[in-house]
Amino acid sequence: MTACTVCPRTAPDGHHLCPLCADDIRGWLAELPHQTELLQEFLTPSAAAPQGRTGGTGRAHAPLPVDLRVLVLLGPGHPGPVGDPDDDTDTTVPIRALLAGWAGHIAYTYPAVHRDPHGTAHTRPCEHAQPARADIAAWCAWLTAYLPYALTLPAAAGLHHQLGDLLHRIRSLTHTEPRSHPRAAPCPQCDEFALVRTDGRWHIHCTDCGHTLTPDAYGQHAAAFLHTTQTAAAEDACVFELDKIAT
Ligand SMILES: [Zn+2]
Ligand SMILES: [Zn+2]
Repeated sequence: MTACTVCPRTAPDGHHLCPLCADDIRGWLAELPHQTELLQEFLTPSAAAPQGRTGGTGRAHAPLPVDLRVLVLLGPGHPGPVGDPDDDTDTTVPIRALLAGWAGHIAYTYPAVHRDPHGTAHTRPCEHAQPARADIAAWCAWLTAYLPYALTLPAAAGLHHQLGDLLHRIRSLTHTEPRSHPRAAPCPQCDEFALVRTDGRWHIHCTDCGHTLTPDAYGQHAAAFLHTTQTAAAEDACVFELDKIAT
């Protein structure tokens, strides 16, 4: 076990992130394609926009100004922030450039076996990452597939930091968060009915105290909770029956 390079938890041997921080990355990559669709809607004139006056005078309303932050996020660009870190240049990195940049970095360190014309195997890094398509969903799928390897790289903390920052920016524009589904059993740590499973995440977490459980651990906890509740209900029923007999 080693220390997670993002939070105070411990990471499995050979990994730089703990399972929860790895789950953050997995969840963000699962969320990003839908968030991108929402951002694209900002650039599409709404069919439901107010029609205003009609009758030959042209447009009744000025078109809504396009949000430059959305244009930058969806546009082409480089995976590094532009400008000096100390100036006030917008440091937003376009989504596709960020994903492709990380995929390129991961691929460059990934040991690939290559055979020369004499049949001798050589191991050397891949030259570049190539997803099935070049859209954002394909880059997300590529990074998710290589995530187990990426977790062994010291740069994994940077991937966590940059993706987290990117999703934070996008959510502030789309006002959309992944949906959370409440679980039936209470939190084993704080007893509140605050456990949820969030879309794209593997772990179940408590929105009250932050406790997390794997789905297996939750299944066992929920089964034990149900058993206790049923036993208590059965005992209540017996007491009720006895009361009836006694009266
Ligand atoms: Zn962690
Ligand atoms: Zn709790």
